[in-house]
Amino acid sequence: MSEIYNFSAGPAALPKSVLRQIQEELLEYGNAKASVMEISHRGVDFMQVAQKAEQDLRELMNIPNNYKVLFLQGGASAQFSMVPINLLRGKTKASYVNTGHWSVKAIAEAQRYCEVNICTDSTANKFTDIEDFANWNIDQDSAYLHYTSNETIAGLEFDFIPEVDMPIVADMSSTILSREIDVSKFGVIYAGAQKNIGMAGATVVIVREDLIGDVVPKQPILFDYATQANNNSMYNTPSTFPWYAAGRVFEWLKEQGGIKAIEAINERKASKLYATIDSSDFYSNPVNPKYRSWMNVPFILADDSLDKLFLEKSYNANLLALKGHKSVGGMRASIYNSMPESGVDTLIEFMADFEKQHG
Ligand SMILES: *Cc1c(COP(=O)(O)O)cnc(C)c1O
Repeated sequence: MSEIYNFSAGPAALPKSVLRQIQEELLEYGNAKASVMEISHRGVDFMQVAQKAEQDLRELMNIPNNYKVLFLQGGASAQFSMVPINLLRGKTKASYVNTGHWSVKAIAEAQRYCEVNICTDSTANKFTDIEDFANWNIDQDSAYLHYTSNETIAGLEFDFIPEVDMPIVADMSSTILSREIDVSKFGVIYAGAQKNIGMAGATVVIVREDLIGDVVPKQPILFDYATQANNNSMYNTPSTFPWYAAGRVFEWLKEQGGIKAIEAINERKASKLYATIDSSDFYSNPVNPKYRSWMNVPFILADDSLDKLFLEKSYNANLLALKGHKSVGGMRASIYNSMPESGVDTLIEFMADFEKQHG
């Protein structure tokens, strides 16, 4: 049987070797005489898991010492609330970039807490392009600027960091760890684990220390970054298993040579897939090539009556979860860090073959 490649947008595939390692140590973790799922988060065994994961992430992303790393629950969506709660700091306005589905969600939640200034809006181009930064309308009284560095559904990804005189907050759920980024440029970076970090159930938040500790009053205590930071993300029981799994993925990433090495592979994977799409009239991708996502590659078949057959045949060829999001249609190949280059090569071969038969 040929190898199975899973192109799911999230929860997404994990590296096979990580899954095997988790399987091997599932029943008894180290010297704990119990599964990592069954031990106290405050015991010595899990504390080591937690600290090693944080330390490896700090190393991988080169996170400066004046940033806290939190492992929280509630997904990226909880950060849509926690960001205004923690970052408004007495101000009444925040600036948001609208480049897609997840931006819209973040904006809607922020509007419950403050006046939201939409400084640029890609709605009119159906989230296929980003307006020239020079033309953005940034409100200087904003407490912060929020953007979604990779829009997972439309496959629209920033290739730059906005230059502004206020803290920058980025939803990096589907792009964190895929390429090098300068953490020091950000006030807050957050990412749900189920795309590029590990399994669903944990959210990584990287927050600059001086932005912690001045929250909108009367909000849930768990939503205060200070509560989480002062208790090493263990004010209450954290999601221990996803935290552990993330740690295993970080170790795997270090074995791959770190972010610089994986970045080169990611760029290669994405560019050959886009080249295949662009070289045919049978497939297309509408995103401005400058802002095409390296992680999520949507593509449309010229004849959408073939969609069903494409999905059926690809599934039978062990290429899973290629159905596009309903708002975009067609297909979407999510090619996160854990997707080996051979998976992209196999998809490209399948696409050429399918075009030959049905084009
Ligand atoms: C998946 C995703 C989310 C939602 O994450 P949850 O963990 O389900 O809350 C938010 N933003 C982006 C960019 C995503 O890809």
